[in-house]
Amino acid sequence: MANAIIAAFQSVTVFVKIAGLRAAAGRQAEGDTLAKRNFVMTLVGLSLPLLFLCWAPSCAVNPVSGRPEVMLLSEGDEVKLGGQTDVQVVTQYGIYDDQKLASYLNDLCRRMGKLSHRPNLPYQFKILDTSVVNAFAVPGGYIYFTRGILASLNSEAELAGVMGHEIGHVTARHSAQQYSRAQLASIGLGLGSIFSDTFQALSEFAQLGVGMLFLKFSRDNERQADDLGVEYATRAGYDASQLARFFETLEKMNPGSDQSGLPGWFSTHPNPENRVQAVRARSMEWRERLGKGDLEVKSEEYLRLTDGLVFGEDPRQGYVEEGLFYHPALRFQFPVPPDWKLNNTPSQVQMVSKEKDAAILFSIASGPSSKEAARGFVDKTKAAVIRSGLIEVNGLPSYRLICEVRTQQGLLRVISYFIEKERRIYVFHGISSVARFQKSLGLFERTMGQFKTLSDSRKINVQPDRIRVRTAGKAETLDKALRSMGVPEKDLKEAALLNGKSLGDRIPAHTLLKVVEKGHP
Ligand SMILES: [Zn+2]
Repeated sequence: MANAIIAAFQSVTVFVKIAGLRAAAGRQAEGDTLAKRNFVMTLVGLSLPLLFLCWAPSCAVNPVSGRPEVMLLSEGDEVKLGGQTDVQVVTQYGIYDDQKLASYLNDLCRRMGKLSHRPNLPYQFKILDTSVVNAFAVPGGYIYFTRGILASLNSEAELAGVMGHEIGHVTARHSAQQYSRAQLASIGLGLGSIFSDTFQALSEFAQLGVGMLFLKFSRDNERQADDLGVEYATRAGYDASQLARFFETLEKMNPGSDQSGLPGWFSTHPNPENRVQAVRARSMEWRERLGKGDLEVKSEEYLRLTDGLVFGEDPRQGYVEEGLFYHPALRFQFPVPPDWKLNNTPSQVQMVSKEKDAAILFSIASGPSSKEAARGFVDKTKAAVIRSGLIEVNGLPSYRLICEVRTQQGLLRVISYFIEKERRIYVFHGISSVARFQKSLGLFERTMGQFKTLSDSRKINVQPDRIRVRTAGKAETLDKALRSMGVPEKDLKEAALLNGKSLGDRIPAHTLLKVVEKGHP
């Protein structure tokens, strides 16, 4: 979260997040309308509280341990909840478009699911279009890998280990327990009363759904998921000790969150003590127990699938160059205030002042016109309007609004520009305390007033970096091989990590290696 001002503002205007920028960009080509998307989100928001009403704590038997446990969700609820969360996850973070890779991963996920403690769950696998390195499980058998983690894996065996680990979180009902706990906590906080207010209910529950991805497992859960991952991967015929290798790589990478706001691996999967040794020991045990002699690693098969994978932030989803923010898919640009920090999340662009006392949020609003969108905003936030009126922003019909919004952290003054462009309404909110507002107003309006259509084809036709898989000619050190593939000095270390190796490692002739091909000029 960027800072207190944004958090306070969001708590009043959560609905703003529902119409995602990235979702809009994804649908631009299909010509889908905002109304349709909002309708879907409304359905999701409304059905969650309904589902909640049916819950009562009950005693169930844990599918893995066989021991009784308190569980708010029946298996049917789990699957329903998973399906609802899935719609939101897909809308918020977007699916990475690679049919071949996706169907290969989905097959593996289903095959391993059938070998697990809960073979009858409808396992579903999806690739999230973000560069953060992580994998997620939500109740009911929904498994997500980011394209970031797919770029970091180096064999089918590593992949199967991580897949088994995530399936383990589902089969041992860790994700269902987390959800139960989150539910109990929100009842304790008095959120139970929100049913009186449909709008609030909608936004709070909509948040909790995607919030599933941000919940952190306990170390015990994590250890158990490792054990289950090893078991399922071995049953599927893979050398599960490769999972230990991957954890070693992950520890060196120590991946953080990316612009999408999704957290990195270790913030949702805490690192248990002696994890690497434990995974190695368990994989020996399972190999013997199952009498598996010829376990597979399948490095080349996996690497070939990653050729062409988008790597790092994708500029097609928005990027900053020389103080200007460009969105190539939605074709607009605006200046970023000098020295402000910009976060480009899938649903919103957030800009925060150095002193963190002022912020500008940019997203998509809904309504038939800029004026109606502004009215909707005022209604929903119960804002006190100070001034409002129609304006034009670089030829685009717009509505300017200055108002005050009461939040838990106090009164905020807000200037908003609602701008109509190609059937969509974009909105900027410039936010600060009442005291700081006059000082920030000029800066706010400079950014908002310079919003305009992007027509420069060089800025529109940007390309992301991509993984390319190349073959080393001869046996040599990784360092030499990478240099001969044109990897620049400054990127050597990262390139070695990407391959799960060290620069000093000797590699055999014809080894496949991943290198990053630069896209964005
Ligand atoms: Zn985990």
